[in-house]
Amino acid sequence: MKQSEKTGEQATELMEFTLSGGCVVCGGEMSVRMSPGAIRGYCGRCSWISKPLIWQSGKEVSILHPPLAEA
Ligand SMILES: [Zn+2]
Repeated sequence: MKQSEKTGEQATELMEFTLSGGCVVCGGEMSVRMSPGAIRGYCGRCSWISKPLIWQSGKEVSILHPPLAEA
């Protein structure tokens, strides 16, 4: 058995996580995908797509959505 394929959660290139309540439109779960130079959030409930600002301090991840564009 090999145990060296998945080590920890510190992805180097791509990171995906779900933020419950992360959607500012409907308050639903937002799937966030971080890749080098690009962050994209997607709400599976209302299909809202955002480009949130995310920063990490220690183990805590903070998310900030830029102001919604007016329709
Ligand atoms: Zn939503």
